[in-house]
Amino acid sequence: MSWTNWAGTLSAAPDRVLTPRDAGEVEQLLESAVQQGRRLRPVGSGHSFTDIAVPRQDQVCLDRLSGVVTADVHTGLVRVLGGTPLHVLGPTLWALGLALPNLGDIDRQTIAGALATGTHGTGGRLHGIAAAVTGLTIVTPARGSVRCSATQEPDLFQAARVGLGALGIVTEVELQCVPAYRLHAVERPERIDAVLERIDTEVEANRHVDLYWFPHTDRAMVKRNNLVPDDHAARPLPRWRARLDDDLLSNRVFELTCRAAAARPRLTPRINAVAARALSAREYADRSYRVFCTQRDVRFVESEYAVPRAALVPALTELRGWVERSGEHIAFPVEVRFIAADDVWLSTAYQRETAYIAVHQFHRMRREPYFEAFEAIVAAHDGRPHWGKVHTLDADRLGRLYPRFGDFRSVRDQVDPTRVLANDYLDRVLGP
Ligand SMILES: Cc1cc2nc3c(=O)[nH]c(=O)nc-3n(C[C@H](O)[C@H](O)[C@H](O)COP(=O)(O)OP(=O)(O)OC[C@H]3O[C@@H](n4cnc5c(N)ncnc54)[C@H](O)[C@@H]3O)c2cc1C
Repeated sequence: MSWTNWAGTLSAAPDRVLTPRDAGEVEQLLESAVQQGRRLRPVGSGHSFTDIAVPRQDQVCLDRLSGVVTADVHTGLVRVLGGTPLHVLGPTLWALGLALPNLGDIDRQTIAGALATGTHGTGGRLHGIAAAVTGLTIVTPARGSVRCSATQEPDLFQAARVGLGALGIVTEVELQCVPAYRLHAVERPERIDAVLERIDTEVEANRHVDLYWFPHTDRAMVKRNNLVPDDHAARPLPRWRARLDDDLLSNRVFELTCRAAAARPRLTPRINAVAARALSAREYADRSYRVFCTQRDVRFVESEYAVPRAALVPALTELRGWVERSGEHIAFPVEVRFIAADDVWLSTAYQRETAYIAVHQFHRMRREPYFEAFEAIVAAHDGRPHWGKVHTLDADRLGRLYPRFGDFRSVRDQVDPTRVLANDYLDRVLGP
């Protein structure tokens, strides 16, 4: 029984992989873990780059708790089981005439796994997925199954919306959905300096803005997604074009260019320059969940930090300077996204208008100097790390970045006083 994360950078050999059939079985297995002093760790799709999901003893997988439980198409409130993958949720909601207000750029995660690390997309007036949660059912080691919302067990609710898998096993999530919508996507290469000069206007004027800067070049791919009216005839990409872009250029050819860069790192700047120009402009409209999510087959490792919106340009400028000076070769684009401030205790956008900077490196290439330099740059701007992406911060530092960190730890002490759910990652970021 061996487990690895998506990037292939972490592995584990759990004593047992427990696959409960329903919430009742989740309660039983937590009860017996408490009685026997065993350590359990819930796992989703294994898409985190940090060791957040790595078990000490047993792993709990909610594959069998998947699907929509109830849906009120008038209010948009939908209850889904914790193990539901986002790629199942999108089409199911669409069939009900509903959608999530925002999503990240892949849909392989489970809903509970995505929530646990604060998964987000982009949109200066929108939030991460956790902000759409209006209720949770969570099975905790000390208190059994608890239903929580803004008015019922409010502290547990505020903590568990981005709960790091530290408070219990989420068996059900209630989501405030919106009427299904289509997006009009416009993607084109531009000069990064020109985009950054007018970035505030861009974020204001577009529902979603996403930038990919190609290191060693002055080029960025800019993606803007906006609503199209209901009656707008959807113009999805022709099949051949979608396959060429997503399957061939974004995955197969990209894999080859990354391998070439890994074999001859000095070629990286030239490869990036060609790649930045090879990606041509495109425009299409489609269902929102299809526009948000792409297929990612090329394995990489990622670190992402949230900085105050006003710190984006200085932080990115410092990073670009470092890339030029360092002599390191960076094969993957740097991604920039935006999210509005929210009130979720451990959300990276807690009470802060946020810009995200994400650095990636091909899994076969050296990343340590790059990621260290990046962390030093964003640290000076009070950067908060994505909980599921590579970072080195500990409880001491995180406590200074999150005003409600102490409250989160108090809730943890109440619901998991004997640390049934603990692992090395939680020891580091929350303390033992
Ligand atoms: C290719 C790729 C693209 C990505 N794109 C984005 C993006 O656009 N935006 C973004 O923000 N992130 C992104 N991520 C990161 C990813 O969304 C997060 O790491 C997410 O947490 C992974 O979900 P998962 O289901 O794989 O959970 P896992 O990685 O398996 O687990 C994550 C956490 O969830 C906990 N957990 C799982 N199930 C439960 C449960 N039922 N109850 C309680 N806790 C539970 C685990 O214990 C662990 O703490 C990306 C990752 C990859 C590999």
